[in-house]
Amino acid sequence: MTNRTFRGGLHPHDGKELSKDKPIREILPKGELIFPVAQHIGAPAIPIVTKGEHVLCGQMIAKAGGFVSAPVFASVSGTVKAVEPRRVLSGEHLECIIIENDHLYEEVSFEASLDLEALSKQEIIEKISNAGIVGMGGAGFPTHVKLSPKEPDKITYVIINCAECEPYLTSDYRRMLEEPEKIIGGLKVILQLFDNAKGIIAIEDNKQDCIDLIKNLVKEEPRIAVKSLKTKYPQGAERQLIYAVTKRAINSSMLPADAGCVVNNADTAVAIWQTIFTGRPLMSRIVTVTGDAITNPTNFRVRLGTKFSELVEEAGGFVGTPEKVISGGPMMGISMFDQEVPIVKTSSALLAFGKDDVAKWEPSACINCGKCVEVCPGRIVPSRLADFAEHGNTEAFEKNNGMECCECGCCSYICPAKRQLTQSIKSMRKMVLASRKKS
Ligand code: SF4
Ligand code: SF4
Repeated sequence: MTNRTFRGGLHPHDGKELSKDKPIREILPKGELIFPVAQHIGAPAIPIVTKGEHVLCGQMIAKAGGFVSAPVFASVSGTVKAVEPRRVLSGEHLECIIIENDHLYEEVSFEASLDLEALSKQEIIEKISNAGIVGMGGAGFPTHVKLSPKEPDKITYVIINCAECEPYLTSDYRRMLEEPEKIIGGLKVILQLFDNAKGIIAIEDNKQDCIDLIKNLVKEEPRIAVKSLKTKYPQGAERQLIYAVTKRAINSSMLPADAGCVVNNADTAVAIWQTIFTGRPLMSRIVTVTGDAITNPTNFRVRLGTKFSELVEEAGGFVGTPEKVISGGPMMGISMFDQEVPIVKTSSALLAFGKDDVAKWEPSACINCGKCVEVCPGRIVPSRLADFAEHGNTEAFEKNNGMECCECGCCSYICPAKRQLTQSIKSMRKMVLASRKKS
């Protein structure tokens, strides 16, 4: 049978062999922990602790700043050292709560729910909201908002995104192998909210061991199925995933719920499972540390707030001086210039490479080869849109569906003229979104 997929996309070298066989290793933070109050889409959280206060692991330190927001929790016990602006991954200085770890890991008492059936839909959503859970695949959209569509009865698919299509990342792969029951458990919680939905665990076919394992675990579950997806980047992008699984298409002005779908990633499903069945809020995540400039590529279970530099140290340090360090995957991640910034809810990986070939590329004129159009999953014309963006032609950019770009990076990757297509389109999209917000 042909595995499910979408139009466009490509197969970059995946580099997953460096860390895929490294079991998840838990590490404890050594230095101070930094908790930005904005680590999600929406209103920043509001600090509720002050300098000098003693806090416990699992204690809320910043409350949600509105409905589209999420609280932040201490991941260690210790003393609040400061509430002040600190540099975060984006390079900006944002308000952060700094905690000096006392290394005792004393916890608040957590309230577990032992009987899922006894919880009402409202109670489940409240627990998820109160636990600070956001989309941990990178978007950071508050999960309780995602799970509250206007017409829940019209949701027919709850999809757990286990594609992990970005090269080098292996944290979801390890989760599936080591803790599959938690992913399934999280899906069961979400299904409790949508009476007419079927649960789908969607996995790329380069992870056949995970497909076999999870298929076997859900064989007696009438509402859950595993779907094998063709291995192709960006299979895990929300629109491409929904299309591959359901053949329903959505555009940039629609939500997954408009196609009857709710999509969450593997780590988010585990966070939901954890909150409902152990009462623990979101305090940790799995982070892959890999690349040819990392001594021992590894998958770490790490407490939020820990600095990236500590992960590099735990992985044996850099091999030489890397030319490129990225937070996230190589296609959509962010270049890092400073590893003294904290791991947040959306940090999936740190990649370090000895050579930065991309920086050495000199862009040249377009040769009209059409390759960018061929790989574009957004069914738009990247070369033309980049021209409009470079000339500041907003009207033509919007008219030619520039907002349908999902910023996957395929066009830049394939372009033989080495044009920075994604970068130009991304900047223009940002400008259009900002002006729409303003008006
Ligand atoms: S235009 Fe956007 S969606 Fe299309 S390939 Fe480029 S980055 Fe991806
Ligand atoms: S891939 Fe590059 S060279 Fe080819 S058409 Fe697109 S922009 Fe032009």
